[in-house]
Amino acid sequence: MADIKSIHSTSEELSKTRTYGKVRCHNAECYHRIEVPPGAKQVKCPGCGAEWRIYWIEPTVPRIRGPVWDSFRKMREQK
Ligand SMILES: [Zn+2]
Repeated sequence: MADIKSIHSTSEELSKTRTYGKVRCHNAECYHRIEVPPGAKQVKCPGCGAEWRIYWIEPTVPRIRGPVWDSFRKMREQK
């Protein structure tokens, strides 16, 4: 019972914290958690610098739609 209670209170705490949606970087070598500002159309991963196009399932739930190809190409050309 104590376990169930602690799990419950943890999830309550999580829903209270004002974190906006986060996505995982799709770069398999990176997998950084990226915080997406509300309404953002694209984000830049602080881990690897890749830019991702964002769509919103719900106003607070972002998903990565795909890479921003222009910046992806530039990144590869620079390396
Ligand atoms: Zn990354």
